[in-house]
Amino acid sequence: MAVALGNDAAGAAGMTISCFSMSPRSLSVEEAHQLLSSMMPAPLDIEAVALHCALERVLACDIVSPINVPAYTNSAMDGYAMAWQQGNYRFRLVGVALAGHGFAGPLNPGECVRVTTGAPLPEGADTVVMREQVELNGNDVIVLAPEKVVPGQNVRQAGEDICQGQTALTQGTRLKPQHLGLAASLGMAVLKVYSRPRVALFSSGDEVRAPGTPLAEAQIYDTNRFALHGLLTKLGAEVIDLGILPDQEGKIRDALQAASTQADMIITSGGVSVGEADWIKTVLCELGDIGLWRIALRPGRPLAFGHIGSVPFFGLPGNPVAVMVTFIQFVQPMLRHMMGQRDWYPQRFMAIADEPMHSRRERIDYHRGIFRCDEQGQLHVRTTGAQGSNILTSMVRANCLIEIDEHHEQVAVGERVTIQPFGELT
Ligand code: AMP
Ligand code: MG
Repeated sequence: MAVALGNDAAGAAGMTISCFSMSPRSLSVEEAHQLLSSMMPAPLDIEAVALHCALERVLACDIVSPINVPAYTNSAMDGYAMAWQQGNYRFRLVGVALAGHGFAGPLNPGECVRVTTGAPLPEGADTVVMREQVELNGNDVIVLAPEKVVPGQNVRQAGEDICQGQTALTQGTRLKPQHLGLAASLGMAVLKVYSRPRVALFSSGDEVRAPGTPLAEAQIYDTNRFALHGLLTKLGAEVIDLGILPDQEGKIRDALQAASTQADMIITSGGVSVGEADWIKTVLCELGDIGLWRIALRPGRPLAFGHIGSVPFFGLPGNPVAVMVTFIQFVQPMLRHMMGQRDWYPQRFMAIADEPMHSRRERIDYHRGIFRCDEQGQLHVRTTGAQGSNILTSMVRANCLIEIDEHHEQVAVGERVTIQPFGELT
């Protein structure tokens, strides 16, 4: 089966994605991104969720404010509210306005009321003087340093945060605690968000065993399913954990076919290289339109991507660091797109290399790094040490990926390199 993509990226790479026909050369990371962008599934359905369940969900429509925030002009301080008159420093105290309880009636010139923070400013008042900056003399309030008073000070104007009718939050926003607070401040109790993607997850390999069971000779514990479970959960996906697939064509076929009826995306790890036990690709050729991509990056060179039915499928490499790196670079953007998130890009900074680093021309290397900020505010970065794609302690020690681009074979001490700080996921 062959899928002619007919897009610029495929053209640029000189390839048609067919079942495991290797492209004549490796795709650059950029080309792989372009190909994936051209195959983004539509965002998922929309559902309504209670505000307190909306954290990390993606807003499915703009939120236009039905009210002014603040709804009324109010005091920013505990003190005294008056209509400020230049040259006057003595005001007659005529009442009190508390948060939740306004002062009935307008203020006349020369009068003031005691106010607490958040109290509605009485009609006629425009300025608040802090309690510490006045002296009381009977029923009079004496402002101690009137020359320092700025008319309008310590007052929050109605609508100064958000005006009624203004777009307060936009479609495609991933909701963080501050967004939930803002939505609450508009009185919204329910938000429309995109559904969470259901992601079916398999590990593969005869040597791979679940933690909690004893290991026989030549077996290893399943690392990838748990790292991927964590990444997916943090991203807001619903994980359908389907365990470990043996290196057996029939079992893999049945499992993947079944998964494609219940998931919005399928992810496997292992079995996508060219070894004799690497069945994933054979099975996928029968089930769907799948290409095996050689991508010019390390770790994570072999990556299978395609569809089983209409369900996108990622066959990630087997080595645990390669799994995490390829998830972060390639799976994450597609899941975010399916969740409706807009305008997301991985964060990148420049940092000074504190040790020499090696790479190869025409491929991007993602070293695991530790960055820090010196006293001058300059970022520095060093690697975590050994960089094998199986050495998961490199991810554990790291707080960033160091991205050494295609044009560099090495980075000398003192040179600037790009880093991707570990962000929301890692
Ligand atoms: P493969 O591509 O299946 O040949 O796997 C490449 C390497 O990754 C081999 O050393 C595998 O044993 C290892 N590997 C594959 N799957 C896992 C897993 N789920 N957890 C840890 N290591 C794995
Ligand atoms: Mg394997």
